[in-house]
Amino acid sequence: MRSLKILFVAAEMAPLVKVGGLGDVLGALPAALAARGHDARVLLPAYDPIMTRKARVVDLLPDGGGRILEYRASELPVPVLLLETPGFLRRAGRPYLTCAGTPWADDPLQFGRLGRVAADIAAGRLVRAWHPDVVHANDWHTGLAPVWMHLEESAVASVFTIHNLGYIGRFPTNILPRLGLPGSMNHPDALEFYGDLAFIKGGLRFADRLTTVSPRYAEEIQTPAFGSGLDGLLRARTDRLSGILNGIDLEAWNPATDPALENHFDVSRPDAKLDERDRLLHGLGLDAVTDAQTPVLAWVGRLTAQKGADLLAEVMPGLMERSLRLVVLGSGDRDTERALVRAARSWPGKLAVHLGFDEALAHQIYAGADMLLMPSRFEPCGLAQMFAMRYGSIPLVTPVGGLADTVIDMSQESPHETGACGFHLAGPAPSALVEGVNRAIGVFCQPDQWHLLMRNAMTCRFDWDSSAAAYERVYQAALEDKPARPAGAAPSRRRLRIRQRAALGSR
Ligand code: ADP
Repeated sequence: MRSLKILFVAAEMAPLVKVGGLGDVLGALPAALAARGHDARVLLPAYDPIMTRKARVVDLLPDGGGRILEYRASELPVPVLLLETPGFLRRAGRPYLTCAGTPWADDPLQFGRLGRVAADIAAGRLVRAWHPDVVHANDWHTGLAPVWMHLEESAVASVFTIHNLGYIGRFPTNILPRLGLPGSMNHPDALEFYGDLAFIKGGLRFADRLTTVSPRYAEEIQTPAFGSGLDGLLRARTDRLSGILNGIDLEAWNPATDPALENHFDVSRPDAKLDERDRLLHGLGLDAVTDAQTPVLAWVGRLTAQKGADLLAEVMPGLMERSLRLVVLGSGDRDTERALVRAARSWPGKLAVHLGFDEALAHQIYAGADMLLMPSRFEPCGLAQMFAMRYGSIPLVTPVGGLADTVIDMSQESPHETGACGFHLAGPAPSALVEGVNRAIGVFCQPDQWHLLMRNAMTCRFDWDSSAAAYERVYQAALEDKPARPAGAAPSRRRLRIRQRAALGSR
């Protein structure tokens, strides 16, 4: 395949800014494509003046509303274009939520601008020295990029990836003029969504190709149960939609070299994992484990209903009756946070709850735990279970979305034959979580079986290369759909009208 210029646009990218799996994907997929010979770059908001400190200005927004800076550094796998606006800078490192835990009020304008700038780069109006073949937008924050590209009949292909359909970017329709978009976008066949606008519809409706982050989730979101009210639109575009499983960065997440660990291990020498376990318990002030029947359970992730965090809080008294330790790292719904903190006070020595985001601690937990709990109600892909497996922690998951696609259940047969690497819970319910933990502890007490599970888990290879090849095919298909337009050809009159209107609207 010929080398492509691919502009990713997203709200997160590890290691610059990461809130969840979206950041991990943007930190790895563009690099995997670059390794395959493509010229990939990422357009990302600058949420903090620190992010732009070492960057060089490449363009000013025509309306004076901000700047585009280019940032290249050894810790970045590909060049990054930073969109710096006063509104984004004001977020001071918090991309989505204010200190009070509420979304930023200027979200539609700021992320609306992000989409607009991506389309301007595609059209050659900004960052003129580099012209992409494909714009790859991600999640609702970037949903307006395909809208603008559609309105302008762009010759550049647009691809939109759904990382989580639970977040749709819903705003009142009166924002439309301030976004510079025509009133025709307030229509069910465009951005309108039950009397409001949904930014994600821009991507779902207008991108040339749609992807999501696991094959199972691609099927699920076409059903009312998982479709967030958008399943009809997704069914209508089913021939454009594909599910491509995320990979993980096997270098950044390697228990044999991870700088966050003191005791390194891998599948051929797993013993040092026990030392990491001791270190984790000690570091969090939990009682040491002195027998072979007491596992360390872990939670790393957002404390939200999607993840089933309320279920965890609910089963806590029952769990704490068992011989185990439990380590929780995450933040999210305030009620769940409070319930977990209360529980940690009730069971000191057995339960540690760490609220907040701590990358190094996350690595140490994956390394030191025996099991990871993920009782998700839905899970587009899930990366935590993949990290856990690589670090020899066995995931207990609801078999939905990417969890179903990545975790093979320890059924009654030997894990040796089935390749089992985890446990499927019967469903996102408290009883299923307790039953799953009981089942897992039963196997934990049979060291031969448990070691086989660990071996299977640690040898799963969720690398990015095959996923990057699948994205290449999507880009290719999107480009093949584009009518050939000679370079420099005059835009149509409709396109010119749209541009003029857009220029007026953005003032
Ligand atoms: P999602 O993107 O839905 O939150 P994923 O499992 O796909 O869930 O990815 C979550 C990513 O965020 C993983 O890299 C996980 O280790 C990380 N993570 C989640 N919560 C925390 C936290 N509190 N501290 C550190 N890392 C976290």
